[in-house]
Amino acid sequence: MSFRHLGRIVIPPPNAERYTTVCQFCNVGCGYDVYVWPAGEEGGLKPGEHGVVYKIKDTVYDRELKPESTDFTRIEPLSHYLGIPWISESMVVRTIRRDWFRGRGTGEWREVYVAQIPSPECPINKGNHSIRGGTNGERNWSPWNVAGARRLKFPMVRFGGRLEVVTWDYAIDLVARVVKGVIDKWGVDNPKWGKEGHSIFAHRMDHGGGGGGGMIENVTAGLFFFYGVRTAFARIHNRPFFGPENPAIGDAGPGAMNNSLHDLRLADVIVFWGTNPYTTGTVMFIEHALSNLRGATADEKGRWFDGEPVVDTYMIIVDPRKTETVEAARAAARDRVLHLAPEPGTDIVLANAIARVIYEKYRNTVDNILQVYRQAAQRGFGWDENAWRLYIEEALEINRKPLDQYLAEAERITGVPRRDIEKAAEILGAPKPGGYPKRVWLMYEKGIIWNQNYRSIYALVDLCIMTGAFRGIAGTGCQRQGGHQEGYAGPEPPPPPWTNERLHMSPWNFAKLNRIELKTYDDYKRLFTQWYQTIYADGYYRTKWAMGDRYMPTTDFRLEGGEGRVLWVHDMDNYKLAPAAHRLKAAVSERSWRVTRYVFAQDFAGITAKDSVDQYDTRVLDISVITRPTSEEYAKLVLEALEKTGGLFVIVQDIYPIFMMEDAHVVLPVAFNNGEVPDVRMSVHERRFRISDAWLDPPGEAKPDWWIYAMVARRIVELYEAEGRGNDPVARRFRNAFQPIWDAMERNARDPRVEVENEIFKTYIANADETFGKLGVDWEVQYWTPAFKNLDLNILRKFRTVGVILPLTELKTNPDGSVEARGIVNIMEPALNSQYREEVVIARPDGTIERRIEIVSSEKAKGYAVNRLRAWPSLWLGYPPYVAELMKDYKYWVLNGRYNEIWQTGYADPNSEVLIRRWPYAFIQINPDDARREALQNGDIVVVYNPHGSVPAIVWISEVVKPGMIFLIMAHPYSVGANAVTTPSVEPVAQNPDYKLTRANLGKIGSLKPEVKAILTFKDIKFS
Ligand code: SF4
Repeated sequence: MSFRHLGRIVIPPPNAERYTTVCQFCNVGCGYDVYVWPAGEEGGLKPGEHGVVYKIKDTVYDRELKPESTDFTRIEPLSHYLGIPWISESMVVRTIRRDWFRGRGTGEWREVYVAQIPSPECPINKGNHSIRGGTNGERNWSPWNVAGARRLKFPMVRFGGRLEVVTWDYAIDLVARVVKGVIDKWGVDNPKWGKEGHSIFAHRMDHGGGGGGGMIENVTAGLFFFYGVRTAFARIHNRPFFGPENPAIGDAGPGAMNNSLHDLRLADVIVFWGTNPYTTGTVMFIEHALSNLRGATADEKGRWFDGEPVVDTYMIIVDPRKTETVEAARAAARDRVLHLAPEPGTDIVLANAIARVIYEKYRNTVDNILQVYRQAAQRGFGWDENAWRLYIEEALEINRKPLDQYLAEAERITGVPRRDIEKAAEILGAPKPGGYPKRVWLMYEKGIIWNQNYRSIYALVDLCIMTGAFRGIAGTGCQRQGGHQEGYAGPEPPPPPWTNERLHMSPWNFAKLNRIELKTYDDYKRLFTQWYQTIYADGYYRTKWAMGDRYMPTTDFRLEGGEGRVLWVHDMDNYKLAPAAHRLKAAVSERSWRVTRYVFAQDFAGITAKDSVDQYDTRVLDISVITRPTSEEYAKLVLEALEKTGGLFVIVQDIYPIFMMEDAHVVLPVAFNNGEVPDVRMSVHERRFRISDAWLDPPGEAKPDWWIYAMVARRIVELYEAEGRGNDPVARRFRNAFQPIWDAMERNARDPRVEVENEIFKTYIANADETFGKLGVDWEVQYWTPAFKNLDLNILRKFRTVGVILPLTELKTNPDGSVEARGIVNIMEPALNSQYREEVVIARPDGTIERRIEIVSSEKAKGYAVNRLRAWPSLWLGYPPYVAELMKDYKYWVLNGRYNEIWQTGYADPNSEVLIRRWPYAFIQINPDDARREALQNGDIVVVYNPHGSVPAIVWISEVVKPGMIFLIMAHPYSVGANAVTTPSVEPVAQNPDYKLTRANLGKIGSLKPEVKAILTFKDIKFS
């Protein structure tokens, strides 16, 4: 039960338990303090009467909070900055939890209050929160709230047409037997590893945030799938393969997360390109970007600019829509905001055009910046002069096409007027008084990532190289925004069986594969020609992707083509998230029901195996299974079905029901990593790394992900042992991978104070080098450094919501008992300068946390800093074939994205009644001119359709979109959203889908009743 509508909330009493966590939602990673105390008790308003205590000295942001700061009798708007947070009704919940006196998960159930309050100590949010984060508290499950009612609580298995509750033993045995059977039967022999289970496909989230996972969850999933099963066919989140979203910026050198919010606050020019941060990174935008734009960080700049003038900040926003971000920025500084609205998909042309103008008109700026890279090159930094020349000549056509002609073409393709291109170039390129180049900070996200990924990102990287966004001084940076926090750790996935390497076909991998030497400029030119021809002209533009070709290990294509025997889906709903989602759903559903019909229809409905291959027989839906097969009998029939029918065994592992459960054979209920199991994850914007602790027991019999993997692994080993094959390489793999976790579980059973998650952290994350070294595989722990070896969950608990920033250069315990962590603020800085900013966080024994930035010698960061910077020419090649095809007959660009309040697929949003009342349906925004032409009114119901699918939506007439474009939410709690009409187009190098490039028509099918319409709003968001 939340405290909404009660008109009052309760304040934690002095004896409340306190936990540290980060928001379960977006990339920003705002810190939250959680308090748990017996229901019925509450604290008073004055310091000492309550348990809300802050102790921080933050000299970076010039703040000090003490226990006496938190006087709730002095609460007022924005008083969270002073350490007096606003605790709203949506932040507190009444629920039940076990008595944790003897360790987590023991003792009697008791009624408790849980308050989840934005943390004034956290340097990211300083107590601020967004409309999403403000509801974190009420999304904790309770026996009396919707979250509690909706949660998956017991393992379930399909018996005929129904999913029915089973014991964990049953579910684990069934899953283990099927997984083992599939590896035994269809495994691919590998001389080193034994049989590899490439027929087992995994779909999973990898991100931080409650919807996905942090490092602990990810590392155990990796142990299971990449080490134990050894499958090449995993899918992460929104991509139909397992790999990065941002390989271009990695290939260039800096990587996708290279700077900090400190830099954002100090920038002279802020660029948001293909991202809508008011909606998707709210606190980062309001607290840091808008503060800078309004001039509120001018004093901070003065401290860091060392005599360089502080000038008014400009913001450039590139988005086809006039988003809330544009409105909010204009409300803050109307004359210093430039909005560029290119035609979808033409960002490469726009970025190159701006760069061309800068190169020609602000040559001194460019030369000053190049000088930084060239000087660093003399000290060993990998500045690639040939690649730079190639970019200037091939992408900017500097010696080939006059500027007027170049810009006229850019204007025609992008629809952005030449004067705006030149204005953007001036904002970025014109020097400050005294000739100083501006400090440029650029952030991009899905508008680029989901739009011809590799070349689009590289076009921005090139622009950032030219404008000095990578020159590693305070106020500069160029990176992704992120959709979630991050926290990846685990063994590297094995390559597909037909190749030795997992490659994205970057120019450099292409050169390696084709033995193209890269010494002279002519070598680069040859690579450029061959790579573009092979990858794009032949691979992307001349043909559509065949199912499962050699270099596109996309699981969607393969599942649709009949490959794979098991599909194990974790924390995601690909009936909403996959490109051309209807196509994937049709294939998975049809193949899953072949198995169900085979297993149950023969005995119960008289449908033969042959029937079950050839026809869809609805009789199976009504089968009531009175005598359940044992898990062993069930598994045997499944393996037969997989062999005879080409079916697919589907396992869903999640916290809430998802659309894919319609076709699941097994459902495994999971503990939420927002309060039910500890994990670690980092903010995307400054790699701030914190614990998201546990303060609740999961509902019913839900279990942590790591527990599920460990138990299935153990059962697989037992099955091999029972056959006398305990030394089979597959059994050995699972045993070697999971033995330390099984040991920790045993110790925990004897003494609940042994925290298994901490043991997992220490073994596989902090000491990943040793552990994976022994296992004999490559591994990744994001931003791991040797300082990690001293880290564990209890140390992270001391750093509370401040955490530490990665990469860590040092972690030590001082003689006075304080713990000190040091990390790099901007990882370009030590690469290009003799000194860099190091954030120092000290946790004192009395609980005080100190945070400061020190300038230290770059020698210290050798080995952690970026070691190269490499441009590459991005060319505009027209639209990809699936998209070009639609352009002939489909009128509207379907822009897609999020609403501020709705998170991801909307999986957790039905828990909050106010959110669902605000967004009960998927809407489309349509321009008034188009609405008039289509004879549409607000509240009409239309179907948006193209050959890939269709989806109903409610009309919202809005100036936010231009004529010829509609905006459709990416996913809605009760609807597929935009992926009903996205295409299967996948960018060939980065293998990310072109979600942002699709077209559709629409047709009216009705109108909402007036009484329903009356409770909705169709007003655009305005700011004053
Ligand atoms: S901005 Fe993001 S991380 Fe911060 S409170 Fe909102 S949803 Fe959570």
